[in-house]
Amino acid sequence: MANQISLSSESSSGENDDTNYSAKLLDLEALNCPICRDPLTTSIYQCDSGHIACSICCEELGNICPYCDFPIGQIHCSAMERVLQSVLVPCPNAKLGCTKSFSYGTELTHKRECIFSRCYCPAENCDYSGSYKDLYSHFGIHKGRGRYNYLFLFDQPAEIYFELSEYTSVVMKENKNGLLFVVHCFREPHGIYVTVNFIAPSAVEVGDFSCHISSLVKNYYMVFVLPKIKGIRKMSFETPKEDFMLVPSYFLRGSQALKLKMLVKKLNQG
Ligand SMILES: [Zn+2]
Ligand SMILES: [Zn+2]
Ligand SMILES: [Zn+2]
Ligand SMILES: [Zn+2]
Repeated sequence: MANQISLSSESSSGENDDTNYSAKLLDLEALNCPICRDPLTTSIYQCDSGHIACSICCEELGNICPYCDFPIGQIHCSAMERVLQSVLVPCPNAKLGCTKSFSYGTELTHKRECIFSRCYCPAENCDYSGSYKDLYSHFGIHKGRGRYNYLFLFDQPAEIYFELSEYTSVVMKENKNGLLFVVHCFREPHGIYVTVNFIAPSAVEVGDFSCHISSLVKNYYMVFVLPKIKGIRKMSFETPKEDFMLVPSYFLRGSQALKLKMLVKKLNQG
């Protein structure tokens, strides 16, 4: 089913509702270049035998059709170009609320920054997913459990307490805009990697945030500044390779608790 799209047509005269038709394109491959398989864009060429190719392939093949050896790259396939101009593909996140549609092949650029991209609830054993804003209201059901009960405000320090033998991640909800931040401790033999992320797609509308973490363990005082917190759509359980604070294990020496002070700032946009 993922390989199909529905096409609909509205009468340009707009006189009669009966002129609304819809059709289904059963094979999306028909809209891809038969040679490189990329989505066809508006410049499509044909050879004398009727084979088609995208402009990039024509150039790479030295303007010789790979199927019949006739020249290709001069004559536009205007029928196919017209079909492509009339195909509008809805954003893949239409079900989550995105109302944008695109010419075939261009929706992928938008998908990367669509604010309706599916995000996954960071609570343990919860398989809820939805747009990042849907997550705010959903997350209410996890309230009352210690590690999910942290409300905080931007520009104000919040204290986070980890009972490392029992849990290694804490979800903080910003009190005003509802954005969920996940503070995660990854235990490794030589220390604990602490990461901070927020759950949202990387879109301008969500905003940028910086983070300042400090911790006093025994007599050691540590400060870690993250100039820009990374937005993620799903929590990762892999030990991070960058953007982490390392608390060496000898700081903790048998202690199973880690207390952090965190300050998140919303960065100015523009
Ligand atoms: Zn091609
Ligand atoms: Zn040909
Ligand atoms: Zn979208
Ligand atoms: Zn959940």
